[in-house]
Amino acid sequence: MPFKNSFDIACLESEALQRLFHETTSYMQNITIEVIASGRGHRSQEEHPATTIGLTLQRPVVQIGDWLDKGQRIEAIAHELAHLLLVYRAGLGVVGRRIPRPGDSENVFRFFMSMRGDWVYLLGQISNTTHHLILIDFLKQEYGIEDDLHIYLLHQNFCLAANDNARDKESQYGMGLVAFEYERLIGKIDRAIINVDHQSEFFWQAYHLAQKHFGRYGFRFIPAPASYKEDILSFLEALGYQREDFIFFPEGKREACSMM
Ligand SMILES: [Zn+2]
Repeated sequence: MPFKNSFDIACLESEALQRLFHETTSYMQNITIEVIASGRGHRSQEEHPATTIGLTLQRPVVQIGDWLDKGQRIEAIAHELAHLLLVYRAGLGVVGRRIPRPGDSENVFRFFMSMRGDWVYLLGQISNTTHHLILIDFLKQEYGIEDDLHIYLLHQNFCLAANDNARDKESQYGMGLVAFEYERLIGKIDRAIINVDHQSEFFWQAYHLAQKHFGRYGFRFIPAPASYKEDILSFLEALGYQREDFIFFPEGKREACSMM
């Protein structure tokens, strides 16, 4: 493992961040923080200042963009560490697609047919949104860290994506989830969408189902791992998918996943 890019949080001189790092590493020791050059690994034109990879290998790597200033680095790293606490302390893992066994021809066919959809976006957004409803208040109340960066980017990215019509079904479901998160963390979505009525039925379906299944989630209501999984699987089932097609990490292996 090359550690040449690894980043020492001590240089950020944030006592709260050091405390959070210490707490997180008491649940998962192998956490690395890296600074990466801008423009790498970005999806479409959306901006993501930080991400965490390596969950399935039980070796999380928090990556932050080199363009962030000191205050933003504190917020971005704290945000990712809070995701990791939700995974490793609260047991709220990340949902992924189950890869069918070779020979299981019907499921293999369904798996490859559905790969055209933007699965990474939809499934990533489920874990992200459910976590964000909890972690924004958690960081503020337990560590005094205001995640202004996340709120700013939620607004920016939502404006970009919601006004872009050329998206597949999974992306539109994902956008419905983002709209739900936006209302919970910022306010009415008509601040970001020019014409709310022009959103697709897929968008609204996911938006209403997210309210139904995740509406209670918050810093004062952290679900038990079993009900979290059940909420996600019944959300996906209500969207028309089969619950057997999904798996939660980290307890399985193999599929790539990340959190933002
Ligand atoms: Zn996040």
